[in-house]
Amino acid sequence: MSALCSILVCQCTTHEYPPGTSGANLWRAMHKSVISAERVSAAVLTKEELQRYSRHLIMPEVTPEGQKRLKAARVLCIGAGGLGSPAALYLAAAGVGKLGLVDFDRVDLTNLQRQILHGTKDIGRSKLESARDRLRDINPDIEIQLHECRLSSENAERIVADYDLVVDGSDNFATRYLSNDVCVFARKPNVYGSVFRFEGQTTVFAPQLGGPCYRCLFPEPPPPESVPNCAQAGVLGVLPGVIGMLQAIEAIKLVVGIGEPMIGRLLHFDALKVTFRELKLRRDPQCPVCGENPTILAPIDYDQFCGAREEASIPGISVQELKAMMDAHEAFDLIDVREPFEFEIARIDGAQLIPLGEILERADDLRRDQTFIVHCHSGRRSAEAVRLLKQRGFVNVYNLEGGIDAWSDFIDPTVPKY
Ligand SMILES: [Zn+2]
Repeated sequence: MSALCSILVCQCTTHEYPPGTSGANLWRAMHKSVISAERVSAAVLTKEELQRYSRHLIMPEVTPEGQKRLKAARVLCIGAGGLGSPAALYLAAAGVGKLGLVDFDRVDLTNLQRQILHGTKDIGRSKLESARDRLRDINPDIEIQLHECRLSSENAERIVADYDLVVDGSDNFATRYLSNDVCVFARKPNVYGSVFRFEGQTTVFAPQLGGPCYRCLFPEPPPPESVPNCAQAGVLGVLPGVIGMLQAIEAIKLVVGIGEPMIGRLLHFDALKVTFRELKLRRDPQCPVCGENPTILAPIDYDQFCGAREEASIPGISVQELKAMMDAHEAFDLIDVREPFEFEIARIDGAQLIPLGEILERADDLRRDQTFIVHCHSGRRSAEAVRLLKQRGFVNVYNLEGGIDAWSDFIDPTVPKY
């Protein structure tokens, strides 16, 4: 949060209904819906739907008119993982007429600690098929559209064109910038969420409704090695539940046209302290996407923008190559740059533990004429270690691609995965 705090103004406020708020005012406020009136008027609630949504309908802020807006709505969830699970479950239950899901992954045992769309019986299945079955069970009346692909510069505009708003549950910077840019181009709200260990945040990016976009806050992505993802840093399983549900609430408010959407406001949640802090966000008039003179008018190469290509240029070897080197008794040192507690969980025989944070101070103890293979959990921290050692003048240093995870998958299944 330190980077965020430096560009934001903290504004802790409490919100109350203004005095004199009446049903008529609320009704007028409902006309701020992002769904067009023509589409809403074409939506008809069946007798069964009136019953299913009765707890919505009896609220004067929603009424059958608001429920028809939900039925007419088309919402795209990017990712059927930690954030996408609670968001999609509640959007389906709320009666969003068309729910799109983008994902390309398969359900893995490590997902189930937080990705509540999927169950133990779904391990190995496509996340989208698993999600569809669960969502259909919750609400068979809605349309579920599966987009089994990685959201890319080539497909994103076409996919987003079919929806009224986007709920971004992605877990990487390249997809966040892509999702942001495409939503700005299409003038559609982008409901943002992110989680990290015990903290999460959410906001609504909608320059067309007066707020900033993601690039107004973060013109440049962070260096790839500086920001670990959930697989590297961990996340409290229930945390994406809180943030994903807040995203679902914001999506529903935008569709029904009630309340104050989190446009220009970012909510930060700290699970350990149980605090919600609200930060006011400023729009940047110089923003290259939503500013006064935009310079980015179409999707760019987001992998390159976010430095993924740089990571790809680190010399690496596969786990199969490492096994062959071991079998041939080649001379090399295997260095494990994970933390000691990870070394306790699982290790590759013969590896020497030097946590990434100590690699530079201990580099002088290493023989420069030696060949080094460096590994970590998934290959990302070790790529950073290889980069650091090369800067120090080491020549024969290689990253073990896929880390100890790949070693367990392809070479030695007795090594525990975590
Ligand atoms: Zn912007």
